[in-house]
Amino acid sequence: MTQPAAASDDRSAAPVGVAEPLVVMAGVNKHYGALHVLRDIDLTVHRGEVVVLLGPSGSGKSTLCRTVNRLETIDGGTITIDGVPLPEEGRALARLRSDVGMVFQSFNLFAHKTALENVVLAQVKVRKRSKQEAGAKARALLERVGLAAHADKYPAQLSGGQQQRVAIARALAMEPKLMLFDEPTSALDPETVSEVLDVIRALAADGMTMIVVTHEMGFARSAADRVVFMADGALVEESTPEEFFTSPTSDRARDFLAKVL
Ligand code: ADP
Ligand code: MG
Repeated sequence: MTQPAAASDDRSAAPVGVAEPLVVMAGVNKHYGALHVLRDIDLTVHRGEVVVLLGPSGSGKSTLCRTVNRLETIDGGTITIDGVPLPEEGRALARLRSDVGMVFQSFNLFAHKTALENVVLAQVKVRKRSKQEAGAKARALLERVGLAAHADKYPAQLSGGQQQRVAIARALAMEPKLMLFDEPTSALDPETVSEVLDVIRALAADGMTMIVVTHEMGFARSAADRVVFMADGALVEESTPEEFFTSPTSDRARDFLAKVL
């Protein structure tokens, strides 16, 4: 019996039900002035789970991600990570941020530092590792994302896909409990998208817990344990990728899929 390619590496059979919660958002609300940008968000992400967050532009996906490492404050509800409520400020907040890796659409590498130096920097500053230890770890991570040969290049000498892989290595160097990817391939040339998605897929296979915002529906379908669909600041639908892509239950999701597929 032949299966569609997308279903063959479907991870939805992973034993999500038995995993412990790593991120718990409960009744989260946020406003930007009069705009109610997050509406009563209840979302639990389990250890090792890959949650893909989909939704039209402006639905609040980036804002949701940014509340998880408190780049944005919330005005109602609670967020806990590994059982600990998000700290308000100070050292506890800095520690929390280093436990939550974030990779954005724009790579934000230091232009005047090499790939290696970009991966070393926060290890020394935040994790207080020696330069030698940080350097060894950076080399190992650059190798893991396929960039061992490019360690001494500057960002401008690298393609967008390579720069984004450096950004991923830099986030991994903090040994995060969770990775947030907010449209990590949206700024890339089409031919370099897959090299970044492959790195994210490999991380997922290694058991990294992650929330991924993406417009790459093939990736969403094959890599997600769970798809969460947002519209107008609310979680509208939550299901396995198979269910979401074959039989979405809300009009908003059907409308969205009709536009993107
Ligand atoms: P998405 O990532 O799904 O495209 P965002 O989370 O970026 O959505 O934005 C959700 C809504 O909040 C949009 O209407 C956007 O214009 C608005 N918004 C985002 N950031 C700000 C901000 N800093 N100040 C005011 N409004 C904002
Ligand atoms: Mg966004």
